[in-house]
Parts: sequence; structure tokens; C-alpha cells
Amino acid sequence: MRKIPVALPNLGEEEAEATRRVILSGWVTQGPEVAAFESEFAAYVGASHACAVSNCTTALHLALLALGVGEGDEVITVSHSFIATANAITYCRAKPVFVDIEATGFNIDPALVEAAVTPRTRAILCVHQLGMPCDLAAIVAIGRRHAIPVIEDAACAIGSEIEWEGAWQKVGRPHGDIACFSFHPRKVITTGDGGMLTTNNPQYDQKFRLWRQHGMSVPDAVRHASSQVVFEAYNEVGFNYRMTDLQAAVGRAQLGRLPGIVEARRRLAGLYGDLIGGVEGVAAPVEANWARSNWQSYCVTLAPDLDQRSVMQSMLDVGIATRRGIMNAHLETPYANAGANLPRSEAAQAHSIILPLYDRMPEADVQAVVNALEVAVEAARPILHRAAV
Ligand SMILES: *Cc1c(COP(=O)(O)O)cnc(C)c1O
Repeated sequence: MRKIPVALPNLGEEEAEATRRVILSGWVTQGPEVAAFESEFAAYVGASHACAVSNCTTALHLALLALGVGEGDEVITVSHSFIATANAITYCRAKPVFVDIEATGFNIDPALVEAAVTPRTRAILCVHQLGMPCDLAAIVAIGRRHAIPVIEDAACAIGSEIEWEGAWQKVGRPHGDIACFSFHPRKVITTGDGGMLTTNNPQYDQKFRLWRQHGMSVPDAVRHASSQVVFEAYNEVGFNYRMTDLQAAVGRAQLGRLPGIVEARRRLAGLYGDLIGGVEGVAAPVEANWARSNWQSYCVTLAPDLDQRSVMQSMLDVGIATRRGIMNAHLETPYANAGANLPRSEAAQAHSIILPLYDRMPEADVQAVVNALEVAVEAARPILHRAAV
């Protein structure tokens, strides 16, 4: 049986050649490839600074530290996200304050953010979930009103765009204070593992660079280039959150593919939208008129009377992989005592399904997925409601 995977990274000869170039150069971490990837990435999103790190979770950790988030502080965020969003807050010994998502879509509801602000709120950590931009204009306005900085978890959102002051801009400019990206293979471009922080604040960028490399006052690349003997100092506790040059070289090749990848994903998502419009009991995701998703994932919502697991199983039985929608951190052990009341987040986890989508997916497979979905939904429908009755 032919299988349709839920995702497939686009890696090829360019990436293989790039790693070969790095290996033969003899400089394999935190060197010229990392520097070039950073400046190319910054230019792509339109940020003044981009700092490469080991993954998006470490990027989120450094972003929160740069804002001074620490013990006893509160950070307003969503539970309805990959658990790394909440974990990064926990690493700072701060408390994630979970607010619910919007009535349509999977992003933070800005109307609930303001009510969650307390004197201990130190940051707002919003997520562009599945690549769909969240309502940054509303969130940044709330942040400004209360003098609270905004971090964007843009793990999934490279290539997504938002209309800002009348023009389309890339997510990660950033529109908040700091944006964090992931290059895990499940995202739109990959370096195996990897992450990037973007900001327009040079002080934050300096801190990221210091902390990602053990708090070392003079980076090894600078010492290597110096004709004078240089002794470095370690004035603060740092981390090893480095990206290697092997990863960065792959990232540069991936960045070259990105416009084509995003274009293909948008075309396939458009096709899904047209076809799913005709499937009863399944709602397609929608873009706000100020948002352009990169469609990192295509997540549909099932009618409440349809069993998520049986729909997914029926599709797997015919060789089509799906995943349940985004998880909720507050339903997992470490955050079970957060006292969260998040009905929309819980409904989204229980009733949404991620369908296969990747840039080289044939259009015929999109049609095959929707056909299988239609059959699976009909089989999962409670007996009295079946169309045949
Ligand atoms: C994938 C993801 C992360 C974590 O990214 P890593 O690079 O795997 O650390 C964080 N937040 C969100 C929303 C994600 O989807």
C-alpha cells in the first residue's frame, strides 16, 4: 500500500554539498557559516539582528532571560502549543499564565490577554501556531499599554506574513521585541535541529551571543582572528546553545528553497480549502485578511460528534498519516496544577486533525486525502446521523 506521510522535509544535493564544504573547511561550529546564515536570515525577515542557536526551545529560554524573566514572574501565553513554549518559562523559574485561544483558529485570543495582566507580568509570549500569524497588532498594543515586552514563538512561522501599517511583512521582523524560530524537520525548513532569535534591540542580541556560548567574553572566532594573545573571561553563567557550521550551511541552502516551499504550500493549502468546503462535518482553517500563513501544518476541525481517533485510524488504514491537532500543556503532568480553564483549547485538542502537507506533495494526493477523510468521517458519524438514514 502506498503511504502518504504527514510531512516530508525538502533536502537534496545542495544541502549535502553544503555539509561537505564545511567538513573539508576544518571549521565546524560557530564559524563563518553560522555568521552567514544569521545575516541571510536577518535580511529575509527584515530584522536588524539574527542569532543562531541549537533549537527554538533554547531560543525561547534566552529570549525570556534577556527580558529579565525570573523567579516569581508571570508570563502570559497559551497552553495550546507544543510544550516547549511553557517549558521555556519554567526554565526561568517563572509561571506560565495560560489564556484560551480564539473561537475560530488555534491562536491566542488577544481579548483575554489584558485581563490576565497582573503587577507580576513580565512578558507576553504569543505563538504563531502552525505557521498562522496570531493577532500581533492587538497583542503588541496591549503590551505597549502596560509596558510589557512581547516575545513571538515563531517556531513554525518562517515565511509567514502579516499586514502591518498597510504593507505585508515577514513574521520575525520582529513586530514584538524578540522572535524565536525552529529548524526541526517538522518545520518548513530544517537544519536537523536548530533555532534563531531575531530582534531589533542590539543589547538583547549581545546577550544572546554571550549566553549561547558559555558566557565567554571573547568568542573563539574573534580570538582565532586576533594577532594579539587574548584571554577571555566568564562573567556570567552561560549555556552551550551553539549552532554548528554544518547545521548553518544546511540552513543557508534551505533558505534558498524557502520561497518556493512556501509558494507550493500555499497552493496546496488553497486546494485543500476548496475540496474540504464540500465535506460535511469538517471545517477548514481560515486566514484573517491581515495574515498569510506558510501552512507549516494544515489542521482541520471535526464536528464535535465525530470521534477524532477513529477518523485518524480509518485514514491510517488506507495509508494516510495524520496527527491530532496541537496539544495543551495544562493537560500534561507538569502543568496540571496551573488552574487553567481553557474550554476552547481543550475542544481544539479533542477535535482537530493535522492532514498531510509538504511542498512536493502531488495535488492528486491532496485529493486522495480529502476523499479518504470524507469516507472516514462518514464511518465515524453516529449511526442515527448517517447520511443514508
Ligand atoms: C516546534 C516548536 C517549538 C520547539 O522547537 P525546537 O526547535 O524543537 O526546540 C516551540 N514552540 C512551538 C510552537 C513549536 O511548534
